[in-house]
Amino acid sequence: MSVTLVRNIHTLVTMNAAREELKDASLLIRDGVIEQVGRSTDLQTAADEVLDLKGRYLVMPGLVNTHHHFYQTLTRAVPAAQNVDLFGWLKALYPIWARLTAEGVRASAQLCAAELILSGCTTASDHLYIFPNDATLDGEIHAVQETGLRFHASRGSMSVGEAQGGLPPDSVVEDEADILRDSQRLIETWHDNRRYSMTRVTLAPCSPFSVSPALMRESAALARSYPGVRLHTHLAESEPDVDYSLATFGLTPGDYAESVGWLGADVWHAHGVWLDDRAIERFAVTGTGVAHCPCSNMRLASGLAPVRKMRRAGVAVGLGTDGAASNDATHLFHEARQACLTARVRELDAAAMTARDALEMATLGGARVLGRDDIGCLAPGMAADFICIDLDRASLAGAQHDPVAALVLCDVGGVDYSYINGRCVVEEGRLTTAELPRLIETVNRLSAAMVRA
Ligand SMILES: [Zn+2]
Repeated sequence: MSVTLVRNIHTLVTMNAAREELKDASLLIRDGVIEQVGRSTDLQTAADEVLDLKGRYLVMPGLVNTHHHFYQTLTRAVPAAQNVDLFGWLKALYPIWARLTAEGVRASAQLCAAELILSGCTTASDHLYIFPNDATLDGEIHAVQETGLRFHASRGSMSVGEAQGGLPPDSVVEDEADILRDSQRLIETWHDNRRYSMTRVTLAPCSPFSVSPALMRESAALARSYPGVRLHTHLAESEPDVDYSLATFGLTPGDYAESVGWLGADVWHAHGVWLDDRAIERFAVTGTGVAHCPCSNMRLASGLAPVRKMRRAGVAVGLGTDGAASNDATHLFHEARQACLTARVRELDAAAMTARDALEMATLGGARVLGRDDIGCLAPGMAADFICIDLDRASLAGAQHDPVAALVLCDVGGVDYSYINGRCVVEEGRLTTAELPRLIETVNRLSAAMVRA
């Protein structure tokens, strides 16, 4: 039994049903689970470990990143892919990604997990869909587990290459029977559906323009034969993506997804920038989720997703950074800020999204999209996943009257403490679970070999 008391919290953002924000608060954690939340004077004080925040720190639930491609950390800011749209960007990068190795998967996953943790994420989903050379999803899962990040690993895939009218080169696509066999093996090896699980597996054919309708259907059937295995892909990201769907399947992206069984409470799609009103309605009715990735959507000039419309309709929306090659900054507070700002520009309405709406998407929204009711808020019975931010920092000076909104409207930078499943993974701003200088050196070496080869 281990009991941790976090006391003298300046502001505690609970994200509970009443969205309470408590002053002078404390948290009591027993064996990785939150036992009590309340005012410092009301909580028990006996604990094995005490973190005294001296009235200076804001505490909130750890952020949930719902869409990423960790391996792309090796190919940030590649010159040939800096100023092109989605399809041009993919064509510039596929040959470079074909040089990915197991060592590259491991180093990029650990670096990316470190970056996510240091900037406030405690849970992330990653979508790995290219397995050249000796790259495997097993290697990525091992690597991330060592960092302490709560992890949803997506077994991605590409099976329709250029010769069959798809976008990826034939050298990086896999046989569909092999994909399904490996997907089943990964579920049976790694997927943990218990409450407070640290590792879950998702099946995630890459996109409608890189796999067949048969693989979409069969992946859905396979996932649904195991409890808690979810489905994820890219959908309606750009206008050419919609054009491909209409020309190839004779269906809009929303109708295509429905035709292959990809709407439902166990499905979330990345982007949805070009979802039409009917698709939004179908997403809402079926409980289908969306990973909103505003920085990537702007970087590739894909468009501004209709997020206010989705949220008003009742669609579950979480935030995603997207891969590090189309949003070269992995920082979910930036994404919350951009979600807030782009919603206002899209609607020409300064009230289209509040800072608190954006924080809700980054926490509870992400938890809902990933199908979890044990993370995303700080309340008794929830996992002890929380971050602490020292409010005495230059970027938050002058905003002490509303430090919660300031998290989105100002610049948070990094977190000072992070606990995941009750384990301290950031202490006084430093990662406790990996050696960052060594990781940076390894990623730079492997990146050079991939990009300049
Ligand atoms: Zn993506």
